[in-house]
Amino acid sequence: MNDQPSGTPRSDTPRSDTPRSDSGTRDYRATVFLPQTSFPMKGDLPKREPGWLERWERIGLWEKLRAQSAGRPKFVLHDGPPYANGALHIGHALNKILKDVINRAAQMDGKDADYVPGWDCHGLPIEWKVEEEYRNPKGKYQGGRDKDAVPVLEFRAECRAYAAHWLDVQREEFKRLGVAGDWAGRYATMDFPSEAAIAAEIGKFLMNGALYRGLRPVMWSPVEKTALAEAEVEYHDHKSAILYTGFPLTKAASEDLVGAEAVIWTTTPWTIPANRALAYGAEIDYALVVVDGVDDGALPRVGQRFVVAEALLGAFAKEVGLAAFSVKRVFKGAELAGAVAAHPLRGWDKAAQGNSVGYAFEVPLLEGDFVTTEAGTGLVHMAPAHGEDDFHLTRAHGIAVPECVADDGTYTVQAPGFVGIHVFKAHEPVWAALEAMGHLAGKGFITHSYPHSWRSKKPVIFRATPQWFIAMDDANRIRGKALQAIADTHFVPDQGRNRIGSMVAARPDWCISRQRAWGVPIAVFVEKKSGEVLREQAVLDRICAAFAEEGADAWYRPGAAARFLGEGRNPDDYEQVMDIVDVWFESGSTHAFVLRPRGLPVPADLYLEGSDQHRGWFHSSLLESIGTNGYAPFKAILTHGFVLDETGRKMSKSLGNVTAPQEVTKQYGADILRLWVMNADTADDLRIGKTILGQQAELYRRIRNTLRWLLGSLAGFEESETLPHAELPELERWVLHRLSELDARLRKAVADYDWNGVYPEIHGFCATDLSAFYFDIRKDSLYCDAADSPRRRAARTVLDALHRCLTAWLAPVLPFTAEEAWQARFPSEEGSVHLQGFPELPAEWRDEALAAKWDRVREIRRAVTGVLEKARGAGEIGSSLQAAPVLHLPPESLGLLPAETWAELCITSGLTLSGEPPPGGAAAPEGMPGVAAVFAHAPGEKCARCWRVLPEVGQSAAHPALCRRCEAVVEARA
Ligand SMILES: [Zn+2]
Repeated sequence: MNDQPSGTPRSDTPRSDTPRSDSGTRDYRATVFLPQTSFPMKGDLPKREPGWLERWERIGLWEKLRAQSAGRPKFVLHDGPPYANGALHIGHALNKILKDVINRAAQMDGKDADYVPGWDCHGLPIEWKVEEEYRNPKGKYQGGRDKDAVPVLEFRAECRAYAAHWLDVQREEFKRLGVAGDWAGRYATMDFPSEAAIAAEIGKFLMNGALYRGLRPVMWSPVEKTALAEAEVEYHDHKSAILYTGFPLTKAASEDLVGAEAVIWTTTPWTIPANRALAYGAEIDYALVVVDGVDDGALPRVGQRFVVAEALLGAFAKEVGLAAFSVKRVFKGAELAGAVAAHPLRGWDKAAQGNSVGYAFEVPLLEGDFVTTEAGTGLVHMAPAHGEDDFHLTRAHGIAVPECVADDGTYTVQAPGFVGIHVFKAHEPVWAALEAMGHLAGKGFITHSYPHSWRSKKPVIFRATPQWFIAMDDANRIRGKALQAIADTHFVPDQGRNRIGSMVAARPDWCISRQRAWGVPIAVFVEKKSGEVLREQAVLDRICAAFAEEGADAWYRPGAAARFLGEGRNPDDYEQVMDIVDVWFESGSTHAFVLRPRGLPVPADLYLEGSDQHRGWFHSSLLESIGTNGYAPFKAILTHGFVLDETGRKMSKSLGNVTAPQEVTKQYGADILRLWVMNADTADDLRIGKTILGQQAELYRRIRNTLRWLLGSLAGFEESETLPHAELPELERWVLHRLSELDARLRKAVADYDWNGVYPEIHGFCATDLSAFYFDIRKDSLYCDAADSPRRRAARTVLDALHRCLTAWLAPVLPFTAEEAWQARFPSEEGSVHLQGFPELPAEWRDEALAAKWDRVREIRRAVTGVLEKARGAGEIGSSLQAAPVLHLPPESLGLLPAETWAELCITSGLTLSGEPPPGGAAAPEGMPGVAAVFAHAPGEKCARCWRVLPEVGQSAAHPALCRRCEAVVEARA
């Protein structure tokens, strides 16, 4: 009786599924065309879905699709590989479901959507797991295995087995989610041909000159003893020691500065022994300050002279406890040009250790454009090995880079007085040493956001080590070309462009080396005498050929150097590089070994991952392809958000708020999880939990009921029943218009990858336009009209279109349910809804003028149904068929529809139209001047078959309980 979405054909309408026989009259139940279908009300998805998967496998659906679409335009969504080291979590499910919907939709839109799923198999996390097993006292080695004593080939084999196991587990889990793809032909970065291709890609950078070895500060994990990529680092709060220390100026342009102490502030006290310079800002105002008085317990002394930025003087004085001070003068930083300071530990180690001489070097003051007065003192201490700015500024001034810290995070002999101490335990000794020298001005702790290894969760440090880099700005111009490619890429949502763009613009050269064992080696040689990298294609070719046959293990076999260097070279003259390549380089190369060898186009149409991949896979794929091909490997990038719990918190085992996809599939079915994805705005973060899944199950139930009613009402439908468009009533033509609108919406989503709102709209169509409106109105005709009546044929013509459209449109998101609803009508051994395309809708279905008219019609209908609801509420009537209201319309609306059509639409037994102004008391609904419905009982008796109340009932001698329409139908069937 109203347009509220109810989803199901209303059961309280008359002549519903159980027409009853009034006592004393004939039973006409058998003459009513009740819906008949084998499509069950209950989905039972956890039980039924595996059956469909088996069937698709059995009929070779994937192969059929490929064969069917041979020669069509390709659509390539290139799969970003998940990491093969555990069961799938909900984020994997979101990612693969979204990919699957897009692939299936492209396929049904007429493309050849060949999707090759893949896995990332190398890298530290798997090494870590294998090592954990070595250490585990309850593990297979009873904790008794020392990783460093295990031969590298044995260790690599264990890593390979570990990855292979999880690859298989994940593959089955993805399949269970209904994700279609070339699962048999999946790719893996550890496949031998992949390893060979990755080595060949590195070789391209070797040959074009972009690959070089250099000393650079990189993010270093002392725990894992390796360099880390930006993507392997996460930021957490960390309590760091801080200090203020003065560097006594020994030389300055102005005499009054000599002997004064240039004060620095640092949150990494352990870098003090590695200091080699100070940086100042030329435009910053600095104050020369004399201490006149200090607080109790303060470290500075009366008479000490400090140089600090004027803007930070107040904060500094408070921090270090200056009770009184006087500013001697203020000067521009430019005056510090050429000044030199002594290291604050100069002479300390001598005092402490008797004989060694350290920290005697000069500490020059250098202008640095990165110096600000935001925090600290406006003077920055430079430890060339431990900071990006530090490294570049000191290198520009020819200052050597000391290696004060070893790979395990302990001081080397280049930090006299601290050798063997771990840098994370160094603050106490450093404080003590500086205090002993009288230069410690302040100390304490702060808590701040600090980089940690995402694996070990331990803090990382900046550390200069010899690493392999790909130059961003050499003759190959990778950065410049990458920025241009970003400008040319289609981003969904568009903010992605700026995210990846700013990262590429600001990034340093790409450090691709890792000091680990499980990966593809950077298979290059360096000539010992010259330090030159060997750039020879023949050597490279030998390496790649061997890798393709034996895997990258070939690099680790005895005699590898002699084998690959070839005749005429003495392996003793060359260093065989044993670093492996960053896994981001590997996955960034997938376009090279997945797409091309299979004849799939590069660039791919689409890369689709979480928005964190702007610094991960999108980023490395872009740089890799720009460096080797000169163009991006993708035409478009689509990102999705992350999955949170129902209250918006991150999921974690400790919070107990984890929703596992395997559990959802078991309890509700994969189609529910898929519906959840597509009902969300995937550009944003998504939420999931029990309540939300319950809601999705309810939405699903409505869609299912719509399909069920369609199927039931189409029972026995023959093509010959179909009526041409021109002969359809307006109501039917309006439904077809709505289909044409939805079709356009869907095609647009296919074209621009923006699926936000598409499936909610289709659901809304099922619930509001169909179940609560169209189906409700047409039940009378479908159940009670003669089988060949034009009205019933028109309705079935439209139901046929609805079934074909809805099963096809739902197939990408609900592959199981759509198949079931398709097979329920078109059963076949070999067929599948997934072999269908989206129906091509005739252009004549689109009818904007009709749509505008029917907006008005539905608006007026709501005025009538409102009045009927009221009468029912008041007990005047039990069903709307007992009413025959008067509908008052303004003159311009009077000709919209004839009265009997209004009665059909309002599901009343009669309706009188009136052009008179509404009588007093019948107020027009808001915004609809001149419109009013006045309740009136329908005169006459109730037809025993259709329950309409009509004066004619009782006039027939043969069928006194029937209306004329029903009498004719019953007679014709007899
Ligand atoms: Zn009847």
